[in-house]
Amino acid sequence: MAPLDHYLAVDIGGTKLAAAVVTGTGQVLHHHEVPTPSAGPDQERLAGRALVALVEQVTSAADVAEGPAGVGIASAGPIDIAQGTISPVNIPAWRDFDVVGAVAGAIGGPQPRLIHDSTAAALGEHWLGAGQGSSALLGIVVSTGIGGGLVMDGRPIAGAAGNAGFIGHITADPAGERCACGRIGCVETGASGPAMLRWARANGWAGDTTPGLAEAAADGEAVALAAFRRGADFLAGAIATSTILLDLDRVVIAGGVSAAGEVLLGPLREALAQHDCAAVRRLTVVRAALGRRSGLIGAARHAMLP
Ligand SMILES: [Zn+2]
Repeated sequence: MAPLDHYLAVDIGGTKLAAAVVTGTGQVLHHHEVPTPSAGPDQERLAGRALVALVEQVTSAADVAEGPAGVGIASAGPIDIAQGTISPVNIPAWRDFDVVGAVAGAIGGPQPRLIHDSTAAALGEHWLGAGQGSSALLGIVVSTGIGGGLVMDGRPIAGAAGNAGFIGHITADPAGERCACGRIGCVETGASGPAMLRWARANGWAGDTTPGLAEAAADGEAVALAAFRRGADFLAGAIATSTILLDLDRVVIAGGVSAAGEVLLGPLREALAQHDCAAVRRLTVVRAALGRRSGLIGAARHAMLP
């Protein structure tokens, strides 16, 4: 057995901080997570302390003679790989937070490699999930927001600072509503969980959760179905554009809303069929396979790539 064949993976999100030891074959050991300390005057200090404690706990539980062969940190964006810093939208106290320094200080050992969490999810799916064998993959995370990440020839595409693939803020409806990012009619304004829910409620649906909306659509309720169709239309335009730009062969859909399965994927494939060109016809759209651990697995994979 190779003594160094394990990696420390960290996944930083607005609701949870997760860490695990991951083997060279992708087995997740000593997985642990804690809620991200909530926003407030003390969040910066509390979140920093929670992150360091989590990393120390997971590395000491691993009980291995040698340290990890590599360290990967996946984080909600925006991130800045050159600086080693993160400014996650959902962790307001962390602006230009030196996450690479914080984790390196906690464990010593190899320099941590930083990756956007959506890119990590795509890389994880490419390695061990629904993206295996793809040579040009776009992973999309459909959740309270919409993120995305690219993997080309098995390597993650970072972009200048690490935020490439952010498909949620491509324009889908130029006459649509203002997005939180400041632009008009982004994909996220129609296809995120909260956006579909808001549209359904404005059109008379009485429920109040995204899983409830997915159930109603599965039961054939007209407004719920229309909300998913509208979300699928928003996504399809951006996917088609990305496919033509990047010559994609596969799209993997992950995130909480993807739990709706065919309720989302069926209308999405139908909407894509309206973009009837050769590049889009070659594209395959599938649901993610790794669940919530895709970010950790992708972070570990990032740490082990040559
Ligand atoms: Zn936007």
